Amino acid sequence: MKTYDKIIFELSRAGRKGYSLPADNFETNGLADIPESLLRQKGPDLPEVSELDVVRHFTNLSTKNFGVDTGFYPLGSCTMKYNPKINEELSNHPAFTGLHPLQDEKSVQGALELYWNLQKMLSNIAGLAEFTLNPYAGAHGELTGLMVMRQYHLSRGDHKRTKVIVPNSAHGTNPASAMVAGLEVVEVKSKPNGSIDVEDLKPLLDDTIAGIMMTNPNTLGMFETEIVEIAKLVHDAGGLLYYDGANLNPLLGKVRPGDMGFDIMHINLHKTFSTPHGGGGPGSGPVGVAAHLVEFLPNPHVVKDEDGKFHVDFGKNSLGNISTFLGNVGVMMRAYAYILTLGKENIKKVGPLSTLNANYIKESLKDDYLLPIEGVCKHEFVFDGLKDKSTGVTTLNVAKRLLDYGFHAPTIYFPLLFHESMMIEPTETESKETLDEFIEVMHKVAKEARETPDEVKNAPLSTIVRKLDETTAAKNPILSFKALKEAENEK
Ligand SMILES: *Cc1c(COP(=O)(O)O)cnc(C)c1O
Repeated sequence: MKTYDKIIFELSRAGRKGYSLPADNFETNGLADIPESLLRQKGPDLPEVSELDVVRHFTNLSTKNFGVDTGFYPLGSCTMKYNPKINEELSNHPAFTGLHPLQDEKSVQGALELYWNLQKMLSNIAGLAEFTLNPYAGAHGELTGLMVMRQYHLSRGDHKRTKVIVPNSAHGTNPASAMVAGLEVVEVKSKPNGSIDVEDLKPLLDDTIAGIMMTNPNTLGMFETEIVEIAKLVHDAGGLLYYDGANLNPLLGKVRPGDMGFDIMHINLHKTFSTPHGGGGPGSGPVGVAAHLVEFLPNPHVVKDEDGKFHVDFGKNSLGNISTFLGNVGVMMRAYAYILTLGKENIKKVGPLSTLNANYIKESLKDDYLLPIEGVCKHEFVFDGLKDKSTGVTTLNVAKRLLDYGFHAPTIYFPLLFHESMMIEPTETESKETLDEFIEVMHKVAKEARETPDEVKNAPLSTIVRKLDETTAAKNPILSFKALKEAENEK
């Protein structure tokens, strides 16, 4: 691959051409009946490039990114597992992609059946009465679930319940969603092992509490063994329990949030159920609820009639619409195919295998990396940076150095409980050889940190761009030639 000191953006040369027009489906021979006044006077301002320029441009761009399909991606809390290509193929089937949401119900019975079946499958997996598949993402599911929580209390005339308890180790979207739902966030402390401090929780539970948001295993990958007691305390105080099921990998087919006492949850189909993610969408965050909350689920909802037909229903106690139509159906199709492919027996292997992989890495690396919480973790765990910090090599440096060795970095500086957090989630789809390679490289980086620390501090050395100014890149991204020109003109 060619690398450039300065990336060349401008490929356009006046008069250069390379295009083929799509077939004329309307048989107008290119002469559609468009009034003169609506026709362009001047051609669009597009790059003038040959077909070869375009092929090379996009092929080269595709190699400059990192993905699960190019290498190991142990990004904690994100479940970057391999997404089988057959699910992709199915979700792109024209019989489904060609549907229109306003089509008559009678003509989309197959799609509605798939939708209804997936609602039921997720209900079984979660141990909850009913699911809506409408939300577009995990955070959107959280918001929907919290709106259900509010609606429940309001429907009982219980107007005082405006607070939601969130552990200080929670994913950032939890308190954010609570705020957007108009609820006040109350923080509950974690014990040194990352689990909820029940003694700190008790005094918070009064008649202003709408509920608690939790995840189990928690953000540190540890199972909350006191969950049954916590559920009882919250329910006795009149609150509801919300389960953040973004990462359902560890408990698929093994443990059900409904059985632990949770009333509401969301699932990220784009983490656990085979939709590629990390690029910003599309996603899906189905929300499940216990029987006493079903009436509040958002509209519309797919139901099965007595005659076996399916229809789209609008409930009168529903909190209303939270999406256009029924959500991201393509994502649901992948999840549906994925669950059916694994089947009841194989789906139970996801948790044990991802747990085994996480523990294997943890135990293999804890001589070089600081393990703040000993013991068996679930699908992920957290190191607090290098054990030997004397040369000043940070978690950020290690993360960047991993790129030089062809691995994506773990999640870094999250959770906030430790200064140098490094959250590793290998998932169940990686082979022992890949894990061994990663372990070897992590040891190598630790050795470099001791012996040649500057090399690690200056990493990455081999990527197309070196260390980025991440704040500027996030706040003022320059993603096109036009934007670059404008930025240069401003200078
Ligand atoms: C990813 C994640 C979310 C948010 O999901 P989005 O689809 O990114 O909105 C919420 N909670 C946890 C624990 C997560 O890992």
